[in-house]
Amino acid sequence: MRAALLLRHDGIDGIAIENVAIPERQPGEVLVRLEAACLNRVDLYMAGGGAGITHRLPMILGVDGAGEIVECDPGETTRRVGEKVVIYPGLWCGRCEFCRRGDNVLCTKLRLLGEHRDGTFAEYITVPAVNVFPIPAGWSAVEAAAVPVAGLTAWRMLVTKGRPLPGATVLIFGIGGGVSLAALQIATMMGAETIVTSGNAAKLARARELGATHMIDHAGEDVLKRVMEITGGRGVDLVIENVGKATWDVAMRAVVRGGRIVCCGATTGGNPSADLQRLFIRQIEVLGSTLGNPGEFADLLTGAGRGLFRPVIDAEFELAEVPKALRRLEQGEQLGKIAIRI
Ligand SMILES: [Zn+2]
Repeated sequence: MRAALLLRHDGIDGIAIENVAIPERQPGEVLVRLEAACLNRVDLYMAGGGAGITHRLPMILGVDGAGEIVECDPGETTRRVGEKVVIYPGLWCGRCEFCRRGDNVLCTKLRLLGEHRDGTFAEYITVPAVNVFPIPAGWSAVEAAAVPVAGLTAWRMLVTKGRPLPGATVLIFGIGGGVSLAALQIATMMGAETIVTSGNAAKLARARELGATHMIDHAGEDVLKRVMEITGGRGVDLVIENVGKATWDVAMRAVVRGGRIVCCGATTGGNPSADLQRLFIRQIEVLGSTLGNPGEFADLLTGAGRGLFRPVIDAEFELAEVPKALRRLEQGEQLGKIAIRI
């Protein structure tokens, strides 16, 4: 089968499209013929070295994927050959303290596709049968492949951690990325008012179409000042923070007393000022979040199937164009998920 292999840690230049053996399915697993995959920033991180993530090269990149089951256990009762499925990208141990209490995403041995083992930029993949979920009716494989990382991360940040009440105000930085766009849709679905920021007018216009209540152009406007104007000097109930150092100070100042900041990324730096006086005096809750549990993924897909959420696709590429697609991601001009058709 063809696959996008990371041969050496040399950035995008270290990736080649090669022929490799179709993986052999083990008992309890399904063999999926992949139809679509989506890009994530971690693909670039892996290509650049993947520091702190245990892996061996060559490795097939790709965390997000969807396709069709072509082989499963003869006695498999929940899945069937021919079923269209989307893959939950985390493989959990099922035995550690965190798995046993149902928080699989906190598994001490959690392994992710395309990070710790072969991923989805390939024609086939094997994963445990418990990792695949039916694609919502009427969805394409590309749309389904756009959901796992971005949609699930946003879902956990809002539904499980941030929990905005109907009518609450949610600030989302950097609308354009997959997590931010999913967060906008999920916050809207929950009945929240949203304030989104971007330095790109086209991205703000698209956010308005997707239901954003207020748009702030951070290239020309003072974000904090505008947030305070919009909220009558009160501040927002919840901040969805995935930028890091560049926006942390604004996040801390934009959140209302007793409000929440949920953080899932730190692209611009991981060590901003903690501002502890503000934190305790104003009793701000700061919560970390990453990906989500299989149960949350099932809930997200149910909501998606009822039309509450639909991923935004920026562009589609062929498997042979994975390096070209990654260059687009690297430039940061995308609006929504960059997809690979397989
Ligand atoms: Zn575990």
